[in-house]
Amino acid sequence: MTTILIVEDEEAYRKPLEYALTREGYKVVAVADGDSALQVVRSEWVDLILLDLMLPGISGTEVCRKVREESDVPIVMVTAKDDVVDVVLGLEIGADDYVTKPYQLRELLARISAILRRSRDLPDAGKVLQVGPIEMDVGRHEVKVRGALVDMPLREFELLEYFLRNPERVLTRGQVMDRVWGEDWYGDQKTLDVHVKRLRSKIEDDPHSPKIIVTVRGLGYRIIPPVA
Ligand code: CA
Repeated sequence: MTTILIVEDEEAYRKPLEYALTREGYKVVAVADGDSALQVVRSEWVDLILLDLMLPGISGTEVCRKVREESDVPIVMVTAKDDVVDVVLGLEIGADDYVTKPYQLRELLARISAILRRSRDLPDAGKVLQVGPIEMDVGRHEVKVRGALVDMPLREFELLEYFLRNPERVLTRGQVMDRVWGEDWYGDQKTLDVHVKRLRSKIEDDPHSPKIIVTVRGLGYRIIPPVA
């Protein structure tokens, strides 16, 4: 059975969530503060954590950091609309996704099942990565879009590989830069814009209205596999 840990101090959010997730067939453990959350993570198997960021006692981002020191369990942060800084921090210390309060329960459930699916089905290093019309053979260093080989310099290839390995996940600009350009990119994020623009011109039907590499304002990008 899939176990979801809810960390939420507000009963008005915790109770309905507990009810909805149980009805969906999940086993639910619900706690109201960060210390209890860490205790649960250390003592029982958890498949996913729904983590409110504004908690009494230790903060949600601190909980996220501590969990990541010991576990790869998927973490979805739950935030207020104006918590952008915390969301960026949370994503950079290893949270997988976020939702903003007030959220649509249906959207949250969809997000949860997408993340669970992804965490069970992580691609192997040598495998062909596929998202929508894009096929990447990492070993042969080849990219095909709608079946046609596309020329791709190394950086673009690495950037696309990172995107394809993390579909449906928000990747902050800082994360992408660190991952693809290394730690020493000195804050010049224009390079990233240029590379994303080139990638879009190669993979999107309409690069001016991207449907695959989607910009998440103020945060970064999310790769959305097109619906077949
Ligand atoms: Ca709260």
